Amino acid sequence: MSDSQIHSTVDLGAAPGVHKGHLAIPYSHNLGGWANLLVPFGMLRNGAGPTVLLMAGNHGDEYPGQVAILRLWRELTAEDVSGTLLLLPTLSQPAAKAATRLSPLDGKNFNRCFPGNPTGTPSEMLAHYLSTVLFPMADIVIDLHTGGRSMNFLPCAHMHLVPDHAQREKMIIATEAFLTDVTFLYTDVAGTGLLPAEAERQGKTVITTELGGGEPVFAEIHKITQRGLKNVLRHCGVLQGAVEQRKAPARWVQSLSRDDYNFAPESGLWEAAVDVGGDVRKGDDLGYIHFLENPSRAPLVVTANEDGVVVANRAPSLVGQGDCVAVLAHDTDPRKLP
Ligand SMILES: [Zn+2]
Repeated sequence: MSDSQIHSTVDLGAAPGVHKGHLAIPYSHNLGGWANLLVPFGMLRNGAGPTVLLMAGNHGDEYPGQVAILRLWRELTAEDVSGTLLLLPTLSQPAAKAATRLSPLDGKNFNRCFPGNPTGTPSEMLAHYLSTVLFPMADIVIDLHTGGRSMNFLPCAHMHLVPDHAQREKMIIATEAFLTDVTFLYTDVAGTGLLPAEAERQGKTVITTELGGGEPVFAEIHKITQRGLKNVLRHCGVLQGAVEQRKAPARWVQSLSRDDYNFAPESGLWEAAVDVGGDVRKGDDLGYIHFLENPSRAPLVVTANEDGVVVANRAPSLVGQGDCVAVLAHDTDPRKLP
């Protein structure tokens, strides 16, 4: 039993059909004493099948997943579904409206708020509701990310290397069903309290992505997102229709060492030497940091720690000390890892 203060206008025990409403998060502000922050929430239910929790907008400025779920929200009927499909198109709507990573309401990174707090800030209360109400209902948890405004990612489905091998195998197969050319094992180098980590801890099959990033979202990224998402939903059995098979095996890569994540030693102007998807050898230049106030100073060179492929680059040219500038990944086979 959850002690959440969040009210769902969708009855989670409702009969089969399409149910659309909100999660209402109590939130007072100066011109709203008894106000609620409304998070759009939909449920499609039809007969026997899995329960799939589908979310985007965990970080507000990551839009392709939000667009894809908004499409499903309008297009799908109950008859398209087997089981229960829960839709949260925009978890952090104030951040999405502000084009920010962090919520402007409480300054929180939603993806560091788990397992949440029933009496915390709006982000913490929503994280707690997910952890105690929606995750326990779900067999499969999907959380669609991009690099946001700060990073440009090679479009990829990705996952943690969870210790339970049965759970890991389900996640590997589901990750491959997203149909991205590259599939990526990552580790948490920037804090704890992530949504997928809590869902994994609860034993769920968790599917996550990094679908591009930076300010422009190209048509190709939307296509990759929407095609992959529908295929994963079919693979899970919650969306009816034939599962599209991969034309080529997934290229699995991993960034499991902190050394794979390159952080700017100094502030300056970032110049990438390799675009995402580019293969490099150990010692190759990944990019340079120039110094606007000291043109005579040689740029600081960021180099590859090992052979690999660049899976993410810093998107804005301006870089601050400590910002991530490049992520290098290495070919791997997740089924052979301990
Ligand atoms: Zn994100």
